[in-house]
Amino acid sequence: MTKSLTVIVPCYNEEAVLQASYLRLKRVLNTLSNPSEIIFVDDGSADSTGALLAEIATSDRQVKVISFSRNFGHQKALTAGINHCTTDLAVIMDADLQDTPELIPEMLTQLEANHAQVVYGVRNTRKGESRFKIWSAKWFYRFLNLFSEVELPVDTGDFRLIDSNIIREFNKMHEQGKYVRGLVAWSGFKQVPLHYVREPRLAGKTKYSLSQMMKLAITSMLYFSKKPLMLATTLGFLSVVIALFFGLYAVLGHIFGFTHADSGWTSLVVLIVFFGGVQLFTIGILGAYIGNLFDEIKSRPEYIIENKINF
Ligand code: UDP
Ligand code: MG
Repeated sequence: MTKSLTVIVPCYNEEAVLQASYLRLKRVLNTLSNPSEIIFVDDGSADSTGALLAEIATSDRQVKVISFSRNFGHQKALTAGINHCTTDLAVIMDADLQDTPELIPEMLTQLEANHAQVVYGVRNTRKGESRFKIWSAKWFYRFLNLFSEVELPVDTGDFRLIDSNIIREFNKMHEQGKYVRGLVAWSGFKQVPLHYVREPRLAGKTKYSLSQMMKLAITSMLYFSKKPLMLATTLGFLSVVIALFFGLYAVLGHIFGFTHADSGWTSLVVLIVFFGGVQLFTIGILGAYIGNLFDEIKSRPEYIIENKINF
């Protein structure tokens, strides 16, 4: 039995690329024997993305559209797409053709051949992205793994094929701080990589600002690890050890006269500033976790849908 497939495409202000991506994706889907559909999620775009999507959906019944009431972010758009997926398989990809749709048949083959539940794209090289983005992404994924309680594949974006097991488990996860690729990895089952070259964006600019990148990075860190919380304990232990030796030195120095109390200004200032910094930093980490608890406990809906087409 051939499995049915949904392609989930989040779009935020993608008027420059939308038509081209749709046509190219459609061409690939037409070559497959699998019945397929596309879910476009309009993440509160301010340009003509919504109108373009409505137009595409009137001429093509296999295109479904979900429109958010405002911009909720890439990860929420992916979440909505997966939540509305009713097929056996789903592919997640960018609207800007950075993830080549021509890889979808290969992903399907790999899934079958390996009896896997996930085939995730690993970016061998990334064309047309700033050196800073490539460098920061490379080190970020490695740094994250030091902390993470599950092994998160490195150099992997959200471009992936997932099967119904993953879709079912993902739909049970309702956290506000969504890091989709991490949650897929966390689900387990058999997940195999597919190496590819990440193309430059077809047109338009990246929709991930530096602050959004930082936010995603922090979410992935805090939601997949409790290790940052342990930092206070580790640093506290260290400071106790230092204090013991330093205290001993100060007391013995006073008794035997090899320290001069009035020349101790520098060391005092250094210690006060250093441990003041350590304390504020670790309180900041606590604050970040508490902030997330605050968001989770409110349990607001993860996204709000204004309109759906072809559902
Ligand atoms: N995107 C979204 N909401 C946002 C930001 C981005 O739905 O708030 C979509 C965007 O339209 C694209 C995908 O998420 O299809 C990835 O964004 P982008 O290509 O700008 O990120 P990059 O590939 O540069 O990391
Ligand atoms: Mg992109």
